[in-house]
Amino acid sequence: MPPPAPVGAWTLPSQCAVCRGWARARLCEACVQRFAAPVPRCCRCAIDVPAGVEVCGTCLRQPPPFDAALAAVDYAYPWDTLVRRLKFHAALDLAPALAERLLDAVRRQDAATTPDWLLPVPLSTARLRERGFNQAWEIARRVARALGCAADAHLLLRLKDTPHQTALPHDRRAANVRGAFAVEPLRRTQIGGRAIALVDDVLTTGATAAEIASVLKRAGARSVQVWVVARTPRPDA
Ligand SMILES: [Zn+2]
Ligand SMILES: [Zn+2]
Repeated sequence: MPPPAPVGAWTLPSQCAVCRGWARARLCEACVQRFAAPVPRCCRCAIDVPAGVEVCGTCLRQPPPFDAALAAVDYAYPWDTLVRRLKFHAALDLAPALAERLLDAVRRQDAATTPDWLLPVPLSTARLRERGFNQAWEIARRVARALGCAADAHLLLRLKDTPHQTALPHDRRAANVRGAFAVEPLRRTQIGGRAIALVDDVLTTGATAAEIASVLKRAGARSVQVWVVARTPRPDA
């Protein structure tokens, strides 16, 4: 039997998006080995930590409203370039390869319990119209299909368009997203008692994820994990 095909595998030869070598997938195996080697991460916020450390100091002092977080890679070369190409240049051909990295990280975690829902961080209607797609959904739906669990792009709503988080200093990001998200009011019962994995492309300060996790918990979610492809590394790392 041939090995299982990766998420959204390309059947035709393609050029690796990083090294330009010919490969069967959009990222060649050598680049995955070189740039996506797993590192120890805080189990609450997915920041890289020294080996043997389970929870980082920040999360010990002030635990985030989500129960756990996992990230496949650091938001650094080449992943920052690939994520930006997906997001701002509509390079949708990169979505399967990025989803595959997240799926690897999910499968590596101990006691991998499949969530009831995979929910992408939503975009506002205006931004969705401008971009034409939600990169978080492009990743979430592929990971959900591979795990055999439900995903939905409409259970969470983004009520207001906020300035891009990247344009704001870190200490203003929480205030920027306060009140920006809600659970679809007609479907709140579908959140009650459920285990949710919130999916996004990048986790930076975690302000958006924290706000959405609080909204989900208020709607009765049993647990909220945050699953991202890339985590912004510690500034001093
Ligand atoms: Zn390569
Ligand atoms: Zn942490």
